[in-house]
Amino acid sequence: MPGTLLFGIDVETADENAKGFAQFGAELFHELQAPVTWYLTGQTLERYPEAFHVAAASGMVDLQAHTYAHLLLKSVLMRNPATHHVHGDTDWYFQPGGTLAAVDRDLGQCQQVFRAMLGHGALALCGPWGHYRGLGDRPDLLEVVYKHGFRCLRSFARNEWDAQPVPLEWQPYCYELQGYPDLLEVMTHGYQDDFYWEAFTRPRGGERYINHLRSVAERVAADDLTWSLCSHDHNCATLEGFEVKVQWYREILAYARDLGMRFVTASTYYQDRLLVGAAQR
Ligand SMILES: [Zn+2]
Repeated sequence: MPGTLLFGIDVETADENAKGFAQFGAELFHELQAPVTWYLTGQTLERYPEAFHVAAASGMVDLQAHTYAHLLLKSVLMRNPATHHVHGDTDWYFQPGGTLAAVDRDLGQCQQVFRAMLGHGALALCGPWGHYRGLGDRPDLLEVVYKHGFRCLRSFARNEWDAQPVPLEWQPYCYELQGYPDLLEVMTHGYQDDFYWEAFTRPRGGERYINHLRSVAERVAADDLTWSLCSHDHNCATLEGFEVKVQWYREILAYARDLGMRFVTASTYYQDRLLVGAAQR
């Protein structure tokens, strides 16, 4: 099998950008017949429930959670690249995460909104900003996310410097070691979006994000890997802005499809993984 693509987009702005993305994005992924996961903040879903109902009805969009208020599950302590600063003006950058109690409250509120707006809670949770090792070093947080019904996490989205890129060698896994064999981590590989690739690599001249993505896709296909790719709803309030943003979506999805890659949502990937896990036990 020439690889699996998990394309997941943070729809988090809770403003006109999210509304635009919901409308134009549903049309795009339907047109491309490409299954995709959207990780919505509760605030975003609460503000535009109708737009997301329509998106979900398109059959290509799997709606999952990105906390209620974009709360970091853990702190990020990032070492800036040696050559320049991506965040802040020092070699190290600190972004504080929520307390355990705050995360507990936020996730409860998030699932409440999902149940009220969609009739069911979310299966998957994308942790804002993402972290090195996901939640593997925090059994207290694993207990909280599990309690709120999440069974699929996208919280491992940084390398050992809490920076980018996340190498493909690190593949999705279950938190079995911590006592949760049915809690899956799907990660985010590479850079979290085009703007993060630019911020970390400072491309010159002809270097383009799509060229980087093509080389990743080739490696994924050759080695039959899972590739968790991330983007955001930023600057998508108008169709013009949306089309600028999604140019590389169109290009990489066409390229990956030509390579024979399988496109799946987080829900489908979770079901498949758990079935395989059950068969092996
Ligand atoms: Zn986010």
